[in-house]
Amino acid sequence: MSLKSFLEQMENRKEVLHIEDEVSPNFEIAYIMKSFSDNGPILLFEKVEDTKTKIAANVCGTRRRLCEALGVEQHQLYQRLLEAWRSPKKPRIVDDGAVKEVVEEPDLLRIPVLTHFERDAGPYITSAVVHAKSLDGTTENVSIHRFQVLDERHLAIRLVPRHLYKLWQMAKEAEVDLDIAISIGVHPAVMLAASSPLPFGVCEFDVANTLLNDNLRLIKCKYVDAYAVADAELVLEGRISATKEVAEGPFVDITGTYDIERKQPVVEVVNVMHRRDYVYQALLPSSTEHKLLMGMPFEAAIYEAVSKVVPKVCAVNLSVGGSGWLHAIISIEKQLDGDGKNALLAAFAAHLSLKHAVVVDSDIDVFNILDVEWAIATRFQAGEDLLVIENVRGSTLDSSANQETGLTTKMGIDATRPLSKPKEKFEKARIPASKRVEELTRKLHSL
Ligand code: MN
Repeated sequence: MSLKSFLEQMENRKEVLHIEDEVSPNFEIAYIMKSFSDNGPILLFEKVEDTKTKIAANVCGTRRRLCEALGVEQHQLYQRLLEAWRSPKKPRIVDDGAVKEVVEEPDLLRIPVLTHFERDAGPYITSAVVHAKSLDGTTENVSIHRFQVLDERHLAIRLVPRHLYKLWQMAKEAEVDLDIAISIGVHPAVMLAASSPLPFGVCEFDVANTLLNDNLRLIKCKYVDAYAVADAELVLEGRISATKEVAEGPFVDITGTYDIERKQPVVEVVNVMHRRDYVYQALLPSSTEHKLLMGMPFEAAIYEAVSKVVPKVCAVNLSVGGSGWLHAIISIEKQLDGDGKNALLAAFAAHLSLKHAVVVDSDIDVFNILDVEWAIATRFQAGEDLLVIENVRGSTLDSSANQETGLTTKMGIDATRPLSKPKEKFEKARIPASKRVEELTRKLHSL
């Protein structure tokens, strides 16, 4: 259950586009990735300038591929994630793994790390799965972070104040550097687990192991006290400095705008391991892939929270247009008027970065934005169905939030049909069709 095995599986499904022309990691690959970033295939760049290493991109770029990675249908996805969150299982620690085929002195400049956008501060590693432990070994964490390549042995890490930041703070208080293992090129299930909103203290590798049906294997690093994925493509062993900081950024984040330059800690890389013919995994910031990986676990969190306040939640979409992060569309089976607003409140509580949310009835397809707009047009009255919450904490990624206080205004739209009015007025008109006409129409579309 590795990136390699997933790529083979997708190859059989004709989901991999091989690019044989030579391209540069400096903008060229990112440019091509961007052109395929909306529901495109996996891209395998076979010939990369100045290196023998191939680059895989857009691996988790569609909902369908992520569902296939977990072996579920779309409607089973949230349940699968929620079950895994509730039943983490320790992966086996093994002595040997494919990633140990080559063990060498660090030279980060030999890895074909992409430079993505015009004003980015430099080349950035964007698919890095980071494992770290508390000094007493009782708390483990796995999360995805961006790393700016500074030189042969040094990276800058962006530490948003969450779990890894907390472990780093604890190490800082003890005046020691924090050991980390950076795994690059892993199975999509590991990426999804690492992006899941789990409480501090739950090790995301354990959740990944449950998602992979107990097939995740870890290795202990050679020089640092941390674990890496045994069949990753590439592993960097490093230490986050307790004292050394550097200017990190600007860098394009999920909304497609530039995140600002900040002082961030330096990571010294002390050892590199990789498969002999390793594939470097690229992930384009602000692509659909980025949005799905960050957003999908939160769809499950919203699904669970809203399920507690209304009888039935049908689907949740953190829409790509809302950067997979700021906009949610939730379909419910409503029992009483007012259910819609309660659903909105639960959604805002489940995903703190959520800014705008729309609740619709079960006959609306949350993934079809035209259908959602139709529901707003025909079932929503701003005077009654609009929920506005001012001065609340939202996402730091929202350019329009108050830049000093970080506060934002949240808006909920209850576009469910009012139960007090006749149902027929809101019914979607359909055209009756025989099997023969249905079949004929399908055929016409496939021409
Ligand atoms: Mn965590």
